[in-house]
Amino acid sequence: MIGNDIDKKSIKTLAQLTDKCETVVTTCHVKPDGDAIGSSLALFHILSALGKTVHIITPDSPPRSLRFLPGCKDIIAVSAQEDFCRSLIEKADLIFCLDFNTLSRIDRAEPLINEAKAPKVLIDHHLDPDSFADVTISRPAESSTCALLFKVICALGLRPIIDKKTATCLMAGIMTDTGNLSYNANDPDLYVIVSDLLRLGVNKVYLWERLNTKSRNQLRLNAFAIDKRMESLLGGRASLITLSDDDLNAYDYIKGDTEGLVNIPLSIPDVAVSVFMHQEPGFIKVSMRSKGEFPVNKICADHFGGGGHLNAAGGEFKGSMNEAVETLRRVLPDYAGHLPLLEK
Ligand code: 5GP
Ligand code: MN
Repeated sequence: MIGNDIDKKSIKTLAQLTDKCETVVTTCHVKPDGDAIGSSLALFHILSALGKTVHIITPDSPPRSLRFLPGCKDIIAVSAQEDFCRSLIEKADLIFCLDFNTLSRIDRAEPLINEAKAPKVLIDHHLDPDSFADVTISRPAESSTCALLFKVICALGLRPIIDKKTATCLMAGIMTDTGNLSYNANDPDLYVIVSDLLRLGVNKVYLWERLNTKSRNQLRLNAFAIDKRMESLLGGRASLITLSDDDLNAYDYIKGDTEGLVNIPLSIPDVAVSVFMHQEPGFIKVSMRSKGEFPVNKICADHFGGGGHLNAAGGEFKGSMNEAVETLRRVLPDYAGHLPLLEK
């Protein structure tokens, strides 16, 4: 049965903590994506249905593309209301940490959560979680925190209170982290979960449309990036896209406009590694994707101040774009042994 394989001791402690708590805070990683927001909102709906007071706190605001999700307007961002968030975190008697493995991933929320007295529960699917939480449910093999959260909800015996709103939020996270069930999507149980969510009323077609809307500027920027700023590395096995401040400004860039761009070069059969770098204030944001066993999380951890999953990772490079590109060119050949064999 779905959820049966979650560690029983963790579920027992989690059930006790949930039973006795009254005020809950959820938090998730910086630049929250559909999985971070979806899991936060799903938990908000479940715990609210149990009569708890729940505050959803994020390091910064969710992107516009996610604001249609039920409950999203109740999210409070530390970047906008730091003092208010601090007081809510101080008063909470249980804190859920969702979709991140280390407190540095929650950016400006880190000191607030660090100081909090309440017990913490980590539910996440990133590798190598830090041991800051009282209960850690970490499953790197899961496609998404939302799929894992569904299993946890089932293990707690709370499946009957999942309603359409909760199901929609969970499905949004699953779709985001699997590219609409394209990658990280080989687990047969995932389709049992999806089937259950559809029965609960999720409109997958509508969700797909809402999660994949793009503005004209965004489309043009992405087309420009592929046409003018994409280059080949490692003899065509790797692809690099870079966007400078000037490039971004020319298309009135707003945060989130390049979401998904890094995946596109992987549609070229020979390309097994895709790197996208863009200028952020004070650093170069690096995103990497790969096929097979090519460990982009290791490259990001070793050279780009970050980490992530085997096939999807990122980091923040403190330096100029030229330095970031030079670093990549220098280190990439060290990992060439991990490239999957070319298909005939
Ligand atoms: P994205 O490329 O979509 O920004 O991030 C993909 C994955 O890489 C994320 O789910 C996260 O696991 C990881 N990641 C992205 N940026 C960072 C970062 O700055 N630090 C760390 N540790 N991981 C990151
Ligand atoms: Mn995730």
